[in-house]
Amino acid sequence: MRVVVVGSGGREAVLAEVLGRTAEVVVTPGNPGIPGSVPTPPEDLDADLFVIGPEVPLVDGLADRLRAAGKRVYGPGADGARLEGSKAWMKEVVEAAGVPTARHRTFTDADDAIAFLCTLPAPWVVKTDGLAAGKGVLVTHDRDEAEADVRAKLAGSSFGDAGRTVVIEEGMTGPEVSVFAVCDGTDAVVLPPAQDFKRVGDGDAGPNTGGMGAYSPLPWLPDGFEDDVLVRFIRPTLVELQRRGIDYRGTLYAGLMVTEAGPRLVEFNVRFGDPDSQVVLLRLTSDLAALLAEAADGQLRSTPTVASDAAVLVVAAAEGYPATSRAGDVIEGIERARLIPDASVFTAGVALDDEGRLVTAGGRVLNVVGRGPDVESARRVAYSALSCISWPGLHHRRDIAVLPRS
Ligand code: AMP
Repeated sequence: MRVVVVGSGGREAVLAEVLGRTAEVVVTPGNPGIPGSVPTPPEDLDADLFVIGPEVPLVDGLADRLRAAGKRVYGPGADGARLEGSKAWMKEVVEAAGVPTARHRTFTDADDAIAFLCTLPAPWVVKTDGLAAGKGVLVTHDRDEAEADVRAKLAGSSFGDAGRTVVIEEGMTGPEVSVFAVCDGTDAVVLPPAQDFKRVGDGDAGPNTGGMGAYSPLPWLPDGFEDDVLVRFIRPTLVELQRRGIDYRGTLYAGLMVTEAGPRLVEFNVRFGDPDSQVVLLRLTSDLAALLAEAADGQLRSTPTVASDAAVLVVAAAEGYPATSRAGDVIEGIERARLIPDASVFTAGVALDDEGRLVTAGGRVLNVVGRGPDVESARRVAYSALSCISWPGLHHRRDIAVLPRS
């Protein structure tokens, strides 16, 4: 099978690797560290299957355009991708589906939004309605900060049009879990959960990012967690989408918070998470290309299987990320890191400079992954590989996959 993967980050690097176990893979546009990267737009490529990685082309209707041209596509159309493109619409759908989630309301007027905010206890959660690369959410215990954020978002000054509608939510507490469901329009299979680390600093300090690291499996989750997510979150949502005439073929990514009252939906995304899906996909032992092709055909038949080991991923980020990211710093040590047993390095925000050297070209530059029989040993592998890599301003979290004390 020939597969085209659309995207250019760490997620697409890992999709290419895992799909490449059973298929011939081309990545568009990819990046200089992903084998098989081509600059040709997906519309001009031929393949047996197209897998669309990021949310932006999905929200923009790339899956619809490819399907209209007769291609077999894994990824929802623009109608289903609204789940991620509009948090307000997502909340409407999940409420109709009866999926457990935080109490919330949607606003375009700052005074109304702040009046509602004042009725909620801390922490306060203010979200842009539209896409904001994982950075449009403020969670704070400081009410002045929350109010200022509402005004900045609604005025369009912090996130442009993406922020002109905001969702104000009740704050939830508990560990976060990502569950990826591969959907064929009517049913789904779920992959083992992962956890990602969204804040830039150790101990969850600092602003939200696109994700600074991840690990899987989560030994502290109760047995049957995935089945519960399938039954209480994924299937009801697919039923509600079908009721609205939406044939959802692609990943439904449930971002969940495990609160004292049980799991609650934080958000749905419409693609594999980056970097949390990488640690799940790498552990797959079954044929990913075949699974995604079945989903694209609307006929899931196979059940995915995964290795019993653990994977830990640490993101190495560029100077200034997430506020900015400095480009052009020369990256050293990737080959040395790859020599560490059970380590791998996937390139994300990278480019080649005039001299053909790999340089930083984005916030999240590399994904460094360790595998091992358990989370702690996988973690040691990832960090020892990371210690081989350097560039001016490289920063990363030091506490990825530190397990909660039981
Ligand atoms: P989202 O883009 O909706 O996933 O939000 C990004 C991050 O903000 C989540 O992964 C959580 O860490 C945090 N967050 C979002 N909604 C809530 C909430 N209702 N309560 C507490 N934290 C939240």
